[in-house]
Amino acid sequence: GATTMPTAKKAADELLAGLLAPGMDRRSCRSRYESSQYYKHFPYKPSTYLLHKLRAYEARHKRCGPGTPLYAKAIERLRSDGDHRRRNDDNDCRYILWLPFDGLGNRMLSILSGFLYALLTDRVLLVALPNDSSDLFCEPFPDATWLITPEFPLSHLFNLGPHAHPDHAYTNLLKTKSIVLANNDTSTSPPPAYAYLSIGYDRGVMDAPFFCGGDHQRLLRNVTWLLLNSDLYFVPSMFPAFRAELRRMFPAMESVAHLLTRYLFHPTNPVWEMVTGFYLSHADKIIGMQIRMFFFATIPVDDMYNQILACSRQEHILPEITTTGTDIDIAGAGNLTVNNNNGSTAIFVASLYADYHERLKSRYSSEEHATINGGTVEVFQRTHEERQDTGSLEHNQKALAEIYLLSFSDELVTSGMSTFGYVSASLAGVRPAILLPAHGHKVPATPCVRAVSMEPCNLTPPLVECGGGPGGSKDDDDADVVRHVKVCEDFDRGVKLF
Ligand code: GDP
Repeated sequence: GATTMPTAKKAADELLAGLLAPGMDRRSCRSRYESSQYYKHFPYKPSTYLLHKLRAYEARHKRCGPGTPLYAKAIERLRSDGDHRRRNDDNDCRYILWLPFDGLGNRMLSILSGFLYALLTDRVLLVALPNDSSDLFCEPFPDATWLITPEFPLSHLFNLGPHAHPDHAYTNLLKTKSIVLANNDTSTSPPPAYAYLSIGYDRGVMDAPFFCGGDHQRLLRNVTWLLLNSDLYFVPSMFPAFRAELRRMFPAMESVAHLLTRYLFHPTNPVWEMVTGFYLSHADKIIGMQIRMFFFATIPVDDMYNQILACSRQEHILPEITTTGTDIDIAGAGNLTVNNNNGSTAIFVASLYADYHERLKSRYSSEEHATINGGTVEVFQRTHEERQDTGSLEHNQKALAEIYLLSFSDELVTSGMSTFGYVSASLAGVRPAILLPAHGHKVPATPCVRAVSMEPCNLTPPLVECGGGPGGSKDDDDADVVRHVKVCEDFDRGVKLF
């Protein structure tokens, strides 16, 4: 149904301080123009330099994208690779093609990382979206498409899965000397027309030198097509190689995914219908709770529920309740703390299961229960799908709708190591309370940790020796890395920006 927005929100800057390009069609993608009214936070404005890079990117995509003569030429180049490699090509259009794998949150984060790489290296981002994702996102760029066309000759490389390492994988090209690191060596033959980058999930096959920057990035500049196989947010691992540009584009390092998710992802009208039809417009405050139960960290529902309550108490998130008729001695209540919000609170639960919604609902709905501060609390869940079903478009549409509903929260509780939660927090512009995963099926002693930044964690950073420290860098650079890259709150082998 239609939603009436608070008046203050109506004045929201619909183009997000110039982040979004003006003049795109409103009706075919309503979310692009309407979402600014729903977000509760917009803590970082885009820098002038980021705006400059985005507008330059849009011009490049329009010039080089599918349907243009330059794109046709780049495809032709790919077909004739191996027959004759041409060194001097007047076509300066270069591409990074994103390949799908894993769930929606993973996909959004790897698309986002690919886009940032394209911004940093003057490439064009294209996506090989499968049918299960065909009606999720609007075209992000003006007067252009980001969808790869059916005549693209390398579609046999699209679904190789996480452990794939084809001949054209970057490290294999290095091994076979199809691509050679020697600087200034004009005698070496030109590089192949494409390279496959395996930079997520499986450390064993990872093309880790990609992250070394320096010579490797210079070499990759000459490769027209990069095929990106990753399911993660690999931006934190790009920081050493691209730190100067990154700092110029993002003066606040925790704003990278926040600004780029808002720039790039706009749900299509059917998904937006699901979102706006469920939006909890009447609430003074919305608390989003994203509860994920990973197979490696399952615990009984009651234990998880208790962890959520303990987290909420620790971080002062949910309104506390009391039983009517019982005087509560707040001073004597130990670590019981009272929320100061006495208006109406809506708790939005996103989970594959109904259990947490049911328990929270009964916690707040019983007549004997009142919140300590007298405010009202309602609990909502839009779907409980029971299991992940990434092959289904409708399932993915519901999942995307819930990511957006979470992102319209004032506060967030998310599940550790979940990319679904990471995307929600970045979009929301909120540092969430992250529930720690129950590794080894043991309820963690600390229920949750407040995130140091709204950035996603890179759960599988590369293990790579670049020579001269991480990222092939010098001492100054290392200090910079220490200042902006941190071990993740929820996973000690992951790294994140802050
Ligand atoms: P991750 O596995 O938590 O990192 O997140 P992903 O999004 O990559 O994969 C999990 C998938 O399971 C999602 O894409 C959805 O398809 C489904 N899923 C998980 N949690 C939820 C939820 O709260 N709501 C809905 N609708 N789907 C979910």
